[in-house]
Amino acid sequence: MTENQKSSHLRQLKNQLIRLQDYGIDEIPCNNSLNSSSLPTRSSSPEKTTSPNSNKAVIQTLAQVREELGDCDRCRLCEGRKNIVFGSGNPEAQLVFVGEGPGADEDEQGLPFVGKAGKKLTEIIEKGIGLNRSEDTYICNIVKCRPPGNRNPEADEINACLPFLEKQLQAINPKVIVSLGKPATETLLGRKVAITKERGQWQEYRGIKVMPTFHPAYLLRSYTLENRKAVHEDMKKALAELNR
Ligand code: SF4
Repeated sequence: MTENQKSSHLRQLKNQLIRLQDYGIDEIPCNNSLNSSSLPTRSSSPEKTTSPNSNKAVIQTLAQVREELGDCDRCRLCEGRKNIVFGSGNPEAQLVFVGEGPGADEDEQGLPFVGKAGKKLTEIIEKGIGLNRSEDTYICNIVKCRPPGNRNPEADEINACLPFLEKQLQAINPKVIVSLGKPATETLLGRKVAITKERGQWQEYRGIKVMPTFHPAYLLRSYTLENRKAVHEDMKKALAELNR
């Protein structure tokens, strides 16, 4: 095994241990029968509950989740960031948007979706379906630190940050999640997604309805009538579900 491989395995092991600790597991039994199937997976709940909020003992508030995240160095994205971009909006929102990661403006300000794509998202929320961004929604990303050059976050970075997104969603317990783009949708659904085919079709994340749609940055890059109509249709479905 090369030094690079060793260091990558150690980093993954460290992240997995941190994640177990996040779930309240302080000890790991040391015997030969321990294998990967005994470890929690992305789709398993911290406790065996059917509803994310049914066990108050393991649900943190957003403030507690933020405190636990601290000055995080759980993955390499900490190296180039200016600010952690935790999320913003109403902690009791019925509608949560999940994007992939902060860009330059977000990194600068420590707030999600404040650049051009953010302005587009605000327009989609406020002009498109008549909601108020800060009062009616909560917005966050699958990774809280800016990937260099705005590349997509990599699997180990997503794995390191995912427990905090999971806890954010548990704390908020929204009625609807709108996943913005392919990386966010794949992370929430835990599988590969063809976003152009699957946007607009209801999915589920731990009992919460998920509406996948295009990322506003993609919409700005491919500003066609067809794409704009598609996002508007997706948002109308999300609104109808909220009003049900
Ligand atoms: S992306 Fe998430 S896990 Fe990685 S350093 Fe930032 S806050 Fe920590």
